[in-house]
Amino acid sequence: MTRILSNYAAGTWRDASRGLADIRSALTGETVAQTGSEGLDFAGMLEHARTIGGPALRAMSFQRRAAMLKALGAAIIERKEELYALSSETGATRQDGWIDIEGGAGTLLALASRGRKELPDDVILTDGDFEPIGKRGTFAGQHVYTSLHGVAVQINAFNFPVWGMLEKLGPALLAGVPVIVKPATATAQVAEAAFRILIETGVLPAGAAQLIVGPVGDLIDHLGGQDLVSFTGSAETAARINGHPVFAREGVRFVAERDSLNASILGPDAAPGTPEFDLFVAEVVREMTIKAGQKCTAIRRAMVPAAHLDAAEAALVAALAKVVVGDPATEGVTMGALASEGQRADVLAKARQLGEASRLVFGTLDNAGGEGAFVAPLLFRADDAWASAAHDVEAFGPVATLMPYQDLAEAVALANRGKGALVLSCFTHDPAVARELVTGAGAFHGRMLFVDRDSARESTGHGSPLPMLIHGGPGRAGGGEEMGGLRGVKHYMQRTALQGSPSVLSAIVGRHLPGAAQETGDVHPFRLRFGDLATGYTLHTGARTVTLDDIEHFAHFTGDTFYAHMDEEAAARSPIFGGRVAHGYLLLSFAAGLFVSPEEGPVLANYGLEGLRFVKPVKPGEAIKVALTVKSKTQRSPDMGEVRWAVAITNQDEDLVATYDLLTMNAV
Ligand code: NAP
Repeated sequence: MTRILSNYAAGTWRDASRGLADIRSALTGETVAQTGSEGLDFAGMLEHARTIGGPALRAMSFQRRAAMLKALGAAIIERKEELYALSSETGATRQDGWIDIEGGAGTLLALASRGRKELPDDVILTDGDFEPIGKRGTFAGQHVYTSLHGVAVQINAFNFPVWGMLEKLGPALLAGVPVIVKPATATAQVAEAAFRILIETGVLPAGAAQLIVGPVGDLIDHLGGQDLVSFTGSAETAARINGHPVFAREGVRFVAERDSLNASILGPDAAPGTPEFDLFVAEVVREMTIKAGQKCTAIRRAMVPAAHLDAAEAALVAALAKVVVGDPATEGVTMGALASEGQRADVLAKARQLGEASRLVFGTLDNAGGEGAFVAPLLFRADDAWASAAHDVEAFGPVATLMPYQDLAEAVALANRGKGALVLSCFTHDPAVARELVTGAGAFHGRMLFVDRDSARESTGHGSPLPMLIHGGPGRAGGGEEMGGLRGVKHYMQRTALQGSPSVLSAIVGRHLPGAAQETGDVHPFRLRFGDLATGYTLHTGARTVTLDDIEHFAHFTGDTFYAHMDEEAAARSPIFGGRVAHGYLLLSFAAGLFVSPEEGPVLANYGLEGLRFVKPVKPGEAIKVALTVKSKTQRSPDMGEVRWAVAITNQDEDLVATYDLLTMNAV
C-alpha cells in the first residue's frame, strides 16, 4: 500500500485524505508515496508557532539551543540508514545521499559547536563594540540582537531534502525562532522522514517545528512583520511567492536562494600539462555528475583560454565517457537519475535551448524516455561564448557549456554575464589572476574558490557550501545569504541600537561595559567560584614602581633588547618614547604579578588575552597598578566556565597605560 506522508501541525501528525499528489520513484516511475496538506489550519499553525514555540525557544539561552541542535544532528547520524534507503528512490547514489544526509547533519553539528563556542549563555546577543557617546562617560550606545517574535517559513527545493532543510532550520532555531518547513513535493518522503527523526528526539519544545507536505494553502496570507520566508528554488517560484501583497504591506522578510549559472574558469596560466588543467577537467566532470548535476552550485559554464579550447574539450569528453549512469544500487554506477520524470523533461527542454547556439560535443538529446528519470551527461561547446544561452538558461541536470575567452577581462565579463551567481571557481597558480578575478567579479558572486596544485588535496570543491562560509549570491541567485558561521543566525534576529548609561546597558547585556558601576569586596575574585562571581566585580591592586634595573633585567632575560628599552640616546630621539621605556610585555607580567592570587583555587587556567593595546609608555621610576573587572561569564561545560576579565593598567597619574581582556577557565 502506498504510504501517505504526514504533516506535523500544532504538535500532531496529520495525514491529508483529499487532494493527494503522487511521489514517484526516480528509478522506476512507480508511486512510492502520496502527499497533501488539504484541511490543515495554516493560520492556526502560525499561531501555534508564535504563541507556543516562540516563547519556549526564547526562554532558552543560546547555549541551550546549541545543545538542542547537537542532539538533533546526532539523531540524524544515528538513524541515517533509514534516510539512505529513501534517498535512493530519488535517484541519488550513496555519495549523493552522503552529501545530503550526513552533510546536513554535519552542518547542524558545526552550527551547534559554533554556537556553543561563540554565543553567550543568554538570550541577548551584542553586536559590535560599545559606543561611548557623552564626554563624561555617562551616556553610551550598544547594538544588540534579539529573536524575532514570528515564524520562519522555510520553503525548500527538491534536490537536497535533508541538507536543504537542516541548513535553514538550524540557524532559525539557534536564533530562537520557530520554523514551519515546506519541503518540495518530489522528494518530500526523505524530508518527512528526517523531520520525523528530529521530532522523535523529544528535544524540541512544543511549537518549535512544524511540517507541511503539500501546498501551503493560505499560510502566506497570514504572515506579519515579525515573520520571515526563506525560499530555495527557481526564480519563477520565488517571484510568484514574493509577489504576494503581504510582503510589501506587512514588511515580511523574504530571503531567496534561487537558480544560479555558476562558472568555472581555467586560468590563462593553466595550459594542458599543468596540474591546474587536470584539476579543472576533473572538477567540471565532478560537478556535472554529482547528484546528476541537480545542484544549485554546479558548474554550468566552463570557460577556458581560446588557445586551449580543443584540448579542454578532448579532456572533458574523455573523462565524461567514463561516467556510468544507472540505478545507484548497481555495482559500478557513478551517476544516478534525476529526481523525477518532470525534471527530466525540463532538463531536456532547457538543453535544447542551449543547443541553439552551441554544439553538443558529448551525450545525446535523444534520451527516449522509458523507466526512470535518467539523463546522461550533456556537454555543449559554444565557440561564440557571447551567443550561448548558457548565460541565461539553467538546465538543472548533468549539463554544462564549454566556452572560450580571449583574455582575463573577457573571462570576468563572461562570468558576470550570469547576472549574479552562488559560486565562481578558478583553476590558476597565479595569485595575480586570482586578485584580478576578485576585483572584477566579486560583486557578482557569493563565493569564490581558487584551486591550484597547493590547495587541491584539501579543497572542498566548487560545489560545496560550507557551514562556516556564506552560501548565497547576488542578483539572479536571489540575493540571499545563509550559513557563514553565526551570520546566518542573525537573519532571524532584530538588531536594535540601545542608548543609556553604561550601568543600564551593562545590566541589559549581562556584561560589564566601560564606565559602568563596579563592585568591590573583601574577597579576591580568584577565590570565588564561577557561580559566585558577579559581573562588574573589581579588584584594585596596589602599585608597583618600574625601575631601570627591572627593564634591563627583563631585556637580558628575554633577549628583547629593542633600542627603546636599552639605548638612552636612540630612545630620546624617538617621536613616540622620548627616552627609555619599559617593555609592554614586562608591564603585562608585572600586572599578572599584581592581580594573581597564587594558591590553587577556582581559576583553573589563563588561556589568552584579547584586544591588547599599549596606550601610554611607562618610564623608569613610574608606578603601575591594575583594575581587574569581571566583564562577562559563559558556562562552557557542567564543570567549567569562561570568565572574561577587563584589565586596565594605569600609572601614578591615573592615565591608562594598557588595556586588554584576559580569559580564564574557572571551576563552576
Ligand atoms: P521550485 O519548483 O521553484 O520549488 C521550490 C519550492 O517552492 C518547492 O518546495 C515548491 O513546492 C515550492 N512552491 C512552489 N510553488 C509555491 C507556491 N505558490 N507557494 C509556496 N511554495 C511553492 O524549485 P525546485 O524545482 O524544487 O528546485 C530547483 C531549483 O532550485 C533550481 O532552479 C535550483 O537552482 C534552485 N536551487 C537553489 C539553491 C540555492 O541555494 N540557491 C539550492 C537548491 C536549489 P512543490 O514542490 O510542492 O511545488
